[in-house]
Amino acid sequence: MEKISSGLYLHVPFCLKKCPYCDFYSLSIKVSKYLENKYLKAIKRELSLLKSFLEKKFEIKSLSFITFYAGGGTPSLLSPHFYEDLFNFLVKNFKFSPKELTIEANPETLTLEKTKAFYEIGFNRISLGVQSFSQRGLKFLGRLHNLRDIFKALEFILKSGFKNFSLDFIFGWKGQGEKTLKKEILKALEYKPPHLSFYELTLEKGTVFYQIFKGKKYWIKEERLLNLYKIIEETLKINGYERYEISNYALAGFKCKHNLIYWELKPYLGLGPSAVSRVENLRWKNPKDLNYYFESLLKENKLPLKIVENLDNCEFAKEYIFMGLRLQEGISLKKLKKKYNYSLSEEILDTLIKEKLIERKNKKIRLTFEGKLLHNQIVLLLWRSLYN
Ligand code: SF4
Repeated sequence: MEKISSGLYLHVPFCLKKCPYCDFYSLSIKVSKYLENKYLKAIKRELSLLKSFLEKKFEIKSLSFITFYAGGGTPSLLSPHFYEDLFNFLVKNFKFSPKELTIEANPETLTLEKTKAFYEIGFNRISLGVQSFSQRGLKFLGRLHNLRDIFKALEFILKSGFKNFSLDFIFGWKGQGEKTLKKEILKALEYKPPHLSFYELTLEKGTVFYQIFKGKKYWIKEERLLNLYKIIEETLKINGYERYEISNYALAGFKCKHNLIYWELKPYLGLGPSAVSRVENLRWKNPKDLNYYFESLLKENKLPLKIVENLDNCEFAKEYIFMGLRLQEGISLKKLKKKYNYSLSEEILDTLIKEKLIERKNKKIRLTFEGKLLHNQIVLLLWRSLYN
């Protein structure tokens, strides 16, 4: 393989405070200038080592990045200077002219000056972690920001020139009624965001919420959850948004290009602790350990990747089903056969169609509204019915 075009993800594992529901790898730590510089040095080292790794492993001569995404953690805790330096390094050593450069930001970390600087150095998309437009919601979720911080952050984003931005929400928190959710969505729409994400609050192992709520009756009943999903989809639909992925909604032309790379099984590289990469049939992960990450790169001069998997056709077929069914577009049965040499049991497909959980059209299947609520269970059923 001579050339590869991939997405580039940077994980920023720092947060001001750990939220009680969050299972992303992040440390609640004060980011000093020293730590920021050390992290920058490690990231650059990782990039250089990755370049030689890919050259050797896949004989790649030219590596170009078509998207850049800083996620976390809290990427907006780092200074614009950090990213400027990183972008200069990328331009010098790779083909780096991505169409989309996203930074995730928490409202309490933005100032007008900082937001402007993010825009000026090249970010053209910002994903703001609003989480809720209800003060009760923010309190329940243990967030550091309040409504005032959100309004200010939105003002900074609009004043800085960002035409493309996403507002990210968590719904299904204890006590969130249908009326509150609807009000929150309408508030968000006042800002005309080109993109919105709505993630259902789930209990994840290892979190504070898991300790508090595990074994207890889940805080929101299934039929109420269904209503919340309906409110989100219907309110956004009449306002021109397409639910292009289970949790993501966009106006025409504003789907997140970087995330589509994952869902469409295109190659991506991830930097930083806990980041995942996949090129061709190889997938690798960096451990969730900042100290190990520094040690490996800065002392031993070697990549921190630990878990390396060689995906076979069956695993790719499963991944295609899992990721593809998250998308409104769904999956092509023809592609499943042609590219991965696998088919799905007609009997199972018929049952799912009868149950109104999937729709089938021109050798393509996709989840219905009800099917989307059962994505994981349907995927498992389909995986079991794969044959070649
Ligand atoms: S700010 Fe975001 S990444 Fe950090 S702990 Fe909270 S939810 Fe997790």
